[in-house]
Amino acid sequence: MDCLFCKIIQGDIPSSKVFENEYVYAFKDINPQMPVHVLIVPKAHLGSADEVDASNSRYVAAIFEAIPRIAAQAGLTNGYRVVTNVGEDGCQSVKHLHFHLLGGGKMSEKMN
Ligand code: AMP
Ligand code: ZN
Repeated sequence: MDCLFCKIIQGDIPSSKVFENEYVYAFKDINPQMPVHVLIVPKAHLGSADEVDASNSRYVAAIFEAIPRIAAQAGLTNGYRVVTNVGEDGCQSVKHLHFHLLGGGKMSEKMN
């Protein structure tokens, strides 16, 4: 499959890995929007959060189990934001489910 994040998980495209386990791969965003900007992805190809169901939600649980560990490792002791974009209106550019972990400073109160 021609998927950028599948290729990153497989190591075919380089990335700055910050965390990995059986279900989860996390790496630094190439174009950071905050001092800390990590992408957290499932090791199975899911197109977006819109494809989450009972057959694959273990991956999402694993991602949210990893988030506090990744945040602590990144030094985000004063909070952070987790975002996932879905589809056209959500401005999702890479069609492999990913959660943005953003922090290292005060963010806008606006969500859009
Ligand atoms: P989204 O717009 O929610 O689909 O987010 C896609 C994110 O992937 C953007 O923040 C990009 O900066 C990031 N991105 C694209 N290509 C790469 C790459 N090769 N390595 C790391 N991050 C990437
Ligand atoms: Zn993929």
